[in-house]
Amino acid sequence: MQVSVLDLKPRAVRLELAGTSATQVNAIRRTLLSDIPRLAIDEVEFHLGPIRDEATGKDYDSSTSMFDEAVALRMGLLPIPTDLGQFRRKAECTCNGAGCPNCQVMYSVDKKGPCTVYSRDLVPLGDPSLAIVEPEIPIVRLGARQALLAYATAIVGTAREHAKYQVALAVGASPRPHIKIHKTSGCSDACLKRVAGTCPVNILEFGSGKLSVTDETACILCGACEKACEHGSVKVEEDATDFFLRYETDGSLTGREAFRFALKDLKRRFEELREAVQAIP
Ligand SMILES: [Zn+2]
Repeated sequence: MQVSVLDLKPRAVRLELAGTSATQVNAIRRTLLSDIPRLAIDEVEFHLGPIRDEATGKDYDSSTSMFDEAVALRMGLLPIPTDLGQFRRKAECTCNGAGCPNCQVMYSVDKKGPCTVYSRDLVPLGDPSLAIVEPEIPIVRLGARQALLAYATAIVGTAREHAKYQVALAVGASPRPHIKIHKTSGCSDACLKRVAGTCPVNILEFGSGKLSVTDETACILCGACEKACEHGSVKVEEDATDFFLRYETDGSLTGREAFRFALKDLKRRFEELREAVQAIP
């Protein structure tokens, strides 16, 4: 398989995978969706009862407009930067699941109303680089005399266990299109000009008696051009060995890190399978 990078942004990637098959591309797509580990908040401990502001002596109420479960769920969905070289699952950690700096991250939040609690208000205990990737995500609005005091613990998991661990989003694969233009005897310039106008992504151009394609890779395989000419001058074909793969990440990992991990994980799983098959007498 040959991989070419069409577009590589930290959180959005477009790749071309050549010399492969739909099944292989689909395996990568599914691994990206469900098997890339990341940190996510898994437990939140709320302070219950009155919360006193030592500076002013004012008392606040710990109950807010939302149930604690809903607040905890929202915290669980926040994207946390995850260094896969450092963090591992609790069960696979040298601490034997007790919890240590290599398998869990703690956050504290201490806010008094009236205000909105944002993702930036979750402060990592220790390494400040573990602050939530997007600082402006609203979590809950606190009224006057309401306060939120809580500790949250993030651990490593995959989307196979819970959707909050999903790293790659909007993962899509499609075959490389080939637009073949061959003006048939029944067709006319007027017809080809009309065909160019039907393309929803504007990649067909008509000029000096010729219909041409400006960017074949941008074709969305809708087939509008094929249908527009009833004389059969335009054919859109799907490549069986060449595919486009595009996806975004939530910021916990970069697109490059997610892809690297997906390939490594697939290789490991196939190696396990091969060993298991070889062990059959
Ligand atoms: Zn540990």
